[in-house]
Amino acid sequence: MSNDTLRDLSQNPLVHRLGVPRIPVLRRHAPGAPLLDGPALVGAVGDGTLAGPVRALLAEAGVAEAGADGKVAAVVLDATAARTIDDLATVQEFLTPAVRRLGPSGRLLVLGPEPGADVEAAAVAQALDGIVRSAAKEVRAGATANLLVVAPDAGIGSSVRFLLSARSAYVDGQVVHVGPGADGPDDLAGRVAVVTGAARGIGAAIADTLARDGATVVAVDVPGAGEALAGVANRTGGTALQLDITAPDAADRLHAHLRERHGRVDVMVHNAGITRDKLLANMTADRWNAVLAVNLRAQLAINGALLDEDLLSDTGRIVCVASTSGIAGNRGQTNYAASKAGVIGMVRALAPQVRGRGISVNAVAPGFIETEMTARMPLGTREGGRRINSLRQGGLPVDVAETVGWLGRAGSGGVTGQVVRVCGQSMIGA
Ligand code: NAD
Repeated sequence: MSNDTLRDLSQNPLVHRLGVPRIPVLRRHAPGAPLLDGPALVGAVGDGTLAGPVRALLAEAGVAEAGADGKVAAVVLDATAARTIDDLATVQEFLTPAVRRLGPSGRLLVLGPEPGADVEAAAVAQALDGIVRSAAKEVRAGATANLLVVAPDAGIGSSVRFLLSARSAYVDGQVVHVGPGADGPDDLAGRVAVVTGAARGIGAAIADTLARDGATVVAVDVPGAGEALAGVANRTGGTALQLDITAPDAADRLHAHLRERHGRVDVMVHNAGITRDKLLANMTADRWNAVLAVNLRAQLAINGALLDEDLLSDTGRIVCVASTSGIAGNRGQTNYAASKAGVIGMVRALAPQVRGRGISVNAVAPGFIETEMTARMPLGTREGGRRINSLRQGGLPVDVAETVGWLGRAGSGGVTGQVVRVCGQSMIGA
């Protein structure tokens, strides 16, 4: 049983027959499981050159190519050569029969071009965005649809694998840009990752997931969470650092720990975050400043220090946990939304500055995630939050964690300055 009772009940055929729609149980990654649980259908528009590399990637992962009919686990269309309205007709001709064949938790992935100066081509590039976001709202049974916008010489392997895999269970209706960057292994073996706010909730799931995929995790949280933090460090085989990230010497202490114990950091995950909700009309300076200090100021200070002192490796990945509240705004959360929107602004400004060093900076914006916080919401608010997305359920902490893991891989360097929502294509802020 999950804590989503309606989803559990809806699996029962008797309840389903009463007219309760079945809420899909999403396929999630299990170590050793195949990339896809069935064949994949791959196509290309015009003289697109990526169908070959995608087929090779799938073959390497043991995925068979689909025959002329039958269910498929994934549909991949290379539309990077689409330039004209006629090319869009080709996209529709390919996708219409293809989506009918998509099985449960299936994946529709479209690769699109960066819009250039040609006006029709730019319109067509943007049209793919509309097609994919709409298809994401149409596909059923836990299937997702996403668009990867591919620059020339982009390193797409890591992102294609993620978006096709069960790791991206709750990433839906997203548009992600990928630029040049070398592919790398589909794990985090040998990488050192710092996770702030790792004692519980999403941060603990990130620590577990990164460690499962081979990373050595430095789990950071406030001294008051010391016992839970030690538990996370023990089970992940990493180190624990009791640290209030807002302390004036926080960046120095993190540095000292990294230098002494690990020598460097490859993945910096800014997950620690707090809420102090109040309507703007009743907002107090302490609530305002507390939220900005943890959620934004500490991240800026730690990033600045890591970059200045060259502790981030040359495949360094900074991953910041934002929120859909930072995109859509939320009643009672001017402080929180300011901090999370601020994180997005920080990511977009920093990414181009450090790209030349091989370092990427991205934000992950969770929507409704099943945590202690959401379990405590009044029933009506909780049910509303859970259902207003294309997958009709909340995500799990592991869904955020898997997305962080993808962005933390050495082979994900082509993805930078992006905001990836982990929200099941929530209507909030869409
Ligand atoms: P949580 O409250 O369960 O955990 C946050 C952790 O951060 C705690 O262990 C806490 O001790 C730690 N922390 C707080 N202040 C700290 C400080 N000054 N120094 C070091 N550690 C500190 O929260 P969660 O639900 O797991 O959320 C994790 C992140 O995801 C946050 O940034 C949150 O804003 C974001 N988020 C959560 C949701 C959701 O649905 N739960 C949705 C969107 C975004």
